[in-house]
Amino acid sequence: MIFCAKHLVTGDGTTVIGDGAVYVDKEGLIGDVGAAADVKAAHPGEPVTDYGDATILPGLMDMHTHFGYYYSQPDLFNYDDYMLAYYALNEAHRALRRGITTIRDVSSPSGLLKQLRLAGEKGFVTVPRIIHTDTGMCMTGGHGHDDGIVEVDGVDEIRKEIRKQRRDGADWIKVLTSNREPVPEFTQEELDAAADECRRRGIKCAVHAGLQPAIQMCIDAGFTSIEHGTFLTLEQAKQMAEKGIYWTPTITAYTVLYEFCKKAIEEGVDPGNRIAVKAMHDMAFFEPAYNAYKNNFKKFYDTGVTVVAGTDMVLYGAPAYPLNRELALMVEYGITPLQAIQTATENPARMLELEHVVGTLRTGLEADLLAVKGNAAEDIHALDEVLGVFIRGEEVRV
Ligand SMILES: [Zn+2]
Repeated sequence: MIFCAKHLVTGDGTTVIGDGAVYVDKEGLIGDVGAAADVKAAHPGEPVTDYGDATILPGLMDMHTHFGYYYSQPDLFNYDDYMLAYYALNEAHRALRRGITTIRDVSSPSGLLKQLRLAGEKGFVTVPRIIHTDTGMCMTGGHGHDDGIVEVDGVDEIRKEIRKQRRDGADWIKVLTSNREPVPEFTQEELDAAADECRRRGIKCAVHAGLQPAIQMCIDAGFTSIEHGTFLTLEQAKQMAEKGIYWTPTITAYTVLYEFCKKAIEEGVDPGNRIAVKAMHDMAFFEPAYNAYKNNFKKFYDTGVTVVAGTDMVLYGAPAYPLNRELALMVEYGITPLQAIQTATENPARMLELEHVVGTLRTGLEADLLAVKGNAAEDIHALDEVLGVFIRGEEVRV
């Protein structure tokens, strides 16, 4: 099959092919990428799908999801394990419809993502490629302890929990060490042990750190990625660039929460919505958070720190997996549409060490493709209108 469009964005941050085409072979691999005329001539008789004035790009990669985060649902009492599985599947479909073909889930109820992936492999369900951390871990009473995150204290418990989650199928480890107050949760000794245990076992580790001094402690410990990094400094962004620590800013989550709080304060809030009530209290956090991203994103990007896009949207009723908005905010704050797309294609593929499998349009990679209306290289809002999503060359219909 040959897919053509007026614009082809390869996902490497710079390359655009006008009137381009991708040839996908019988195994679902990309067999050829280039000018449509050349690709068609090289594969005569091959069926062609022409998207016209559209952009073909790699399927998007969302590096911060919680497919099993049901804690903000108003009818929590209905969520037994069965409902949870249906819920997570629905989340997977919502992500696919957005053009997201790979996710890194950084905390969901234990075993849920492992089984969702297995169900996908068995052909029971259609889901994106899944990399997951299982539940993640925080200190006793730390961030997320009431949302299913496992509580651990001290070096031995941390090492043991990492080994346990690895044994039970986690691809990555997630550590959470700050919340809404500028106090660290885990000690430096605990963070060092977590990073060391992961390195020793060859496991990558994502750490939730939004405030000081937690951010610096995590940079010093040396994790694979820092999630949020909301109040990062320029000096710290430089340190991350030097140490090769990835940054998942999750700008949209904080922006939507800020907008939500603002509206809620103006209009009054439904007292049954736990997250909403909490968000009201957290306005003092979300407003400076929103401003921090807005004022600093471009400066930090320019240090060379590798940015990966993630949505982290767990607010009840919020848009599903708004990766399009995450990239649009990056463009609004100063980078180009092609650079923004790279944060959801090549950069995450490199972070996951899947760059030889997915993430760019290159011969030999698996054909995870996305077609969107218009020219995404010029106007990032082209991502708002999805025309087609493919995993390993097969169209996703969910
Ligand atoms: Zn999160």
